[in-house]
Amino acid sequence: MGFFRRKTTPLPPRSWKITRKCLDLIVESSKSNYPQEFGALLRVDRVDKNKIIEVVLLPGTISGDSHAIFHLHMLPIDYSVVGTVHSHPSSIARPSDADLDLFSHFGKIHLIVGVTMYGNISWKAYDYTGRETSVEIV
Ligand SMILES: [Zn+2]
Repeated sequence: MGFFRRKTTPLPPRSWKITRKCLDLIVESSKSNYPQEFGALLRVDRVDKNKIIEVVLLPGTISGDSHAIFHLHMLPIDYSVVGTVHSHPSSIARPSDADLDLFSHFGKIHLIVGVTMYGNISWKAYDYTGRETSVEIV
């Protein structure tokens, strides 16, 4: 018999990073899709698995104001994909109920980018429970 861990043992927090280049691309894509949503997956570096380096566009991603832009059956089984990013043309970078449902089913880190009609951007990161998480720009 081996030892077993109590299920309540929390995982150590991961300190997420994102490259400036990747963040710039996300911001530009969120602006250029306005007033529609932009959505993509987040991919980390193969070596530094806490560093988000690129976005992966999903084929057939539907733009709209429903927030139902991610379809779970389309998500790849690829361990370098760690989460999602999408924009909120409402300018509020807070997860909706549909977003929280998605977060709980897929991924570890999720970005939401609020975009205003004037092109102002605010973004926040969330973990799979919907709790706000910090991401360092590198
Ligand atoms: Zn959303």
